[in-house]
Amino acid sequence: MTTTDDRSTPADPTAADMDRLRERYRAERDRRIRTDGTAQYQAMTGEFGYYADDPWSDVAGREPVADHVDALIVGGGFGGLVAGARLRDAGLDRIRIVDAAGDLGGTWYWNRYPGIACDIESSIYLPMLEEIGTVPSRKYPPGEEIRGHARAIGERFDLYRDALLGTEVTSLAWDDGAGLWRARTDRGDAFSARYVVISSGPFNKPKLPGIPGIADFAGHTFHTSRWDFGWTGGDANGGLDRIGDKKIAVIGTGATAIQCVPHLAEGAEHLYVVQRTPSSVDTRDDEPYDEQWWASLEPGWQRRRREDFLNLMNMLPPVHGVDGVSDKWTDTAPIRGVARYARTHDTESLADALEIADAEKMDEIRARVSEIVRDPATAAALKPWYRQMCKRPTFSDRYLQTFNRENVTLLDTGGQGVERITSGGIVVGGTEYPVDAIVFATGFELGADPATRAGADIRGRGGLALAEKWSDGLSTLHGWVSRGFPNLFHVGALQNSASVNFAHVLEEQATHIATVVTEAEKRGVDAIEPTAESEDAWVATIRERAVDQHGFLAECTPGYYNFEGRPRKRNEQFGGGPVEFHRILGAFREGDMNEVLGGGR
Ligand code: NDP
Repeated sequence: MTTTDDRSTPADPTAADMDRLRERYRAERDRRIRTDGTAQYQAMTGEFGYYADDPWSDVAGREPVADHVDALIVGGGFGGLVAGARLRDAGLDRIRIVDAAGDLGGTWYWNRYPGIACDIESSIYLPMLEEIGTVPSRKYPPGEEIRGHARAIGERFDLYRDALLGTEVTSLAWDDGAGLWRARTDRGDAFSARYVVISSGPFNKPKLPGIPGIADFAGHTFHTSRWDFGWTGGDANGGLDRIGDKKIAVIGTGATAIQCVPHLAEGAEHLYVVQRTPSSVDTRDDEPYDEQWWASLEPGWQRRRREDFLNLMNMLPPVHGVDGVSDKWTDTAPIRGVARYARTHDTESLADALEIADAEKMDEIRARVSEIVRDPATAAALKPWYRQMCKRPTFSDRYLQTFNRENVTLLDTGGQGVERITSGGIVVGGTEYPVDAIVFATGFELGADPATRAGADIRGRGGLALAEKWSDGLSTLHGWVSRGFPNLFHVGALQNSASVNFAHVLEEQATHIATVVTEAEKRGVDAIEPTAESEDAWVATIRERAVDQHGFLAECTPGYYNFEGRPRKRNEQFGGGPVEFHRILGAFREGDMNEVLGGGR
């Protein structure tokens, strides 16, 4: 049964209605803001280093390598894999992926928690489906299937041959005389590479909360990205059969917790879900893929389907007329807001239409909580009071239902988080809850310095550190090359335009890099490096076209989207959106490419 509180926004809200909602959102935000901002978290280093150990592979000792490769790729997730595949297509022979993980797959290697699955429709999320021939079993397939696809890309493009796994690149230095990069690793390797691709990904560093007493806990503990199935039993599909006599606290209620909490609840004697801010939890509606539909797809379907999804998500009409991209992301508040604006633009500004559609969407999300969760106090605590895109939306048909179980308690911390951890449990609101284990579903270091995120000290011409060059802000041409760092390419979300379907964006970048490399090889160009003019022009474009998210994010509840309530002005994203950005890259490739192939110096 919904409550009047859920439907806080009437269908045609007055200015006063919207003011009331804004005030409520602001009050919720204010009680969560902390003075320590992003410093509230701690890295998994030093005494907490063991949290980051690889539970999936025993990395065997090996002799250090000392050789030369055509390309070094730092990071073996989808970004590194598609870059490797496209560089292989471009004719490079020795391609070396280096990754701390014991296998390829990136975030899908590390994250194997029970319930893990993607929530972007797999026909558009998984790269190279047509080339590899993978047919996902369902709309949102389990993580293991996704990891299998990542491995298949590695195998198809022979990327295991030269890979160094369980290894981290510690330094990269451009050797001007030899015209190549010299790389060193934490395993004593010292090799050279003609090209380097940095693809360290946004989720490469899990983080822990800096809760007082965290080191004192004497029970069992691990982070969701390093799940301990030896202790819980079961596997990524669930069936946690060793915890039937255990009391467990899971800290965090983000996208990861939404997926693993139902499994923990099924297995544990008692589960405490410790919440600081509730997620917005929409329906998921997962289903097996229809084999006939799959068989009916015409070659080139994935590109068309991805492009139409990208258009849809960027408020543009689909260009290929693809039918049925019905991913849940296409029903999020901004999409609804633009649809509303199309109807109401005579009377409403775009900003108003977006805000009202957002209020309606969040009313639905809150009403869904009341409909599912039987205990009114628990339901009230599970309702999110912020605009939907303040935090990453989540989708589940199992999470909210979990709170109707006898063996599950929501410990809502009123926005304050866990007070203290003792040797035997957690303290919330002055009460100690004894537990056998604490599972940290506390996410990853995001917003880290892009120059050092890969973990390597990167030095270009004249020994200039990338961190120094970018100390006043990013400076690249189209986000993938930076002057002074020849033949060093970035794959990821720097000064380009990301999308929720990030894997698509990575593939565009990989294609772009490989096309330019092919042209450089053909022309005998030694250094792919942007001219000062082209780089300055792109930085200026980024500034001119920056979307001012500052106002929106400042009003948001704290989280990693807004640096824990302290949004920074950034020059990291191209404001024109990914569709226009891809067009810009395409036009560049169609041109003479002289801005990067002209010699650089
Ligand atoms: P998040 O950063 O999204 O969530 C971390 C959680 O920990 C938040 O609920 C946070 O609360 C909570 N937390 C942090 N410190 C404390 C504290 N001291 N006390 C209590 N709670 C605390 O991490 P996730 O691992 O859930 O997700 C990370 C990203 O991984 C997602 O944003 C998504 O992009 C990706 N992902 C994608 C999936 C997919 O299907 N494609 C599935 C899962 C994850 P608060 O909100 O108050 O900060």
